[in-house]
Amino acid sequence: MDTATHTKASLVFLGSLTTATPESERPVTYQDWDALLRSGVQPQGIYLGAAPHQTWHHWLERIRQSDYWNLPVFADPAQGDAQLYVDALCSVERAREIAEGMALHRQALPAPGDVVRLEERLLYFLYERGQQAGFKPLLDRNSDQLYRYPVAELLAYAHENVSLTLEDLRRRGLLRSEGLVDRTRHCSSCGSAHIHFVDVCPHCQSLDIRREATLHCFACGHVSAESQFVEGGLLACPKCYVHLRHIGVDYDKPLAQYHCRSCQRSAVEAMVQARCLDCAHTGQPSELEVREVATLMLSASGRQAVRNGGVGEAFAPLKASNYIDPQGFRRMLDWASKIQARHPEFRVHLMRMELEHMDKPGQPVSPWQVTALLDEFAVRLNALLRESDLITRVDERSLWAILPYTMPKGLQDRIEKALEKLVEEEGEVKRLAVRMRSMEVKAMNGSKEAPSASQLMQQMRSGAQQGV
Ligand SMILES: [Zn+2]
Ligand SMILES: [Zn+2]
Ligand SMILES: [Zn+2]
Repeated sequence: MDTATHTKASLVFLGSLTTATPESERPVTYQDWDALLRSGVQPQGIYLGAAPHQTWHHWLERIRQSDYWNLPVFADPAQGDAQLYVDALCSVERAREIAEGMALHRQALPAPGDVVRLEERLLYFLYERGQQAGFKPLLDRNSDQLYRYPVAELLAYAHENVSLTLEDLRRRGLLRSEGLVDRTRHCSSCGSAHIHFVDVCPHCQSLDIRREATLHCFACGHVSAESQFVEGGLLACPKCYVHLRHIGVDYDKPLAQYHCRSCQRSAVEAMVQARCLDCAHTGQPSELEVREVATLMLSASGRQAVRNGGVGEAFAPLKASNYIDPQGFRRMLDWASKIQARHPEFRVHLMRMELEHMDKPGQPVSPWQVTALLDEFAVRLNALLRESDLITRVDERSLWAILPYTMPKGLQDRIEKALEKLVEEEGEVKRLAVRMRSMEVKAMNGSKEAPSASQLMQQMRSGAQQGV
């Protein structure tokens, strides 16, 4: 029998077949991964036979890093430890159904071999698995993030960072969270979730504090730790040296307080510090970045990006009615520039709005701050733009706008006002400012030739770098 043709559209079996599968349903079997590779067969799915954890895990690693990276992998329901790593623990028959269903899904997509970057592989992988597919988090105390995504990890090569890529795709709205599992707090400096909380003195930040009963001397009014009053087994005031015999008569005991042995001061409350175990950064607990841990699934924008084969510039559309995607934006800019070259009376401006720290100009804003703000900002921007204005977003922190017959100065003032209001309402985003630049779309130096969209955008970007 011609094996290659026989298994072309089917499931193959890796390892030794232990389950009692009827002869007719029995898939073609290979002893290990290398044997399968040598055969030249192109399977639709792979069923793992019973094998020790290390063995099947090694097979999976090799499958996910090979040309067959996207294929569904199944295991016997008895192989419980494989559950988080494979597509399903199921019967051979069910595995065949799933594999065939996925092959149908895949027909509309580019060939898996053409999908190169990790972000594209992750989205593609979910797409061909259908609407219910998602990357599930696994709690792992050895992971610096506390949670990791085992299936996504298998898809990454050694030089690729899965957790950063997943976080980036989620922020861009291409992945969405489904089913909250946990909430983690991360170091604002290195992103690690290994944070240690420690009580320190609120005055000098010393660790050497102790909660102690406090005594109050009625004779002189001195208040201090009880230990300061003990002298030869008796109580005496360290300030006025009066012996304190009767509580309520000579002294009383106000609330217990923290006493610092470094600066000798007291406080009702200790201060809590958050210390990062990975980079030693110390700060207040409120400075930690809070992340929600959930299963990550494809969003509508993510599906669209996979179908269009372009993940690089894909972002969830802003909630703005004037929004168009970056490709459309470039086409419109080209078009406007051509009209302008022929009809100089047509006035059109290109504007770039970039988010940055208010107190640290020139410093990029962290992406999670931007996400929190950008949609909110876009909604307000909506009210300020004219119907004929167009906006788009080509990267994390900047918006571009085409403004026909609109003076950028007026719009700029209105945006600044709106932003002030936003800051008043959302105290959190106080540190953010929008840096706006604009230029008139015009042929250069009296030339009749219309500049292209990419020339115009490039010109503005380099102008931004020179601080023009
Ligand atoms: Zn850190
Ligand atoms: Zn006293
Ligand atoms: Zn102190």
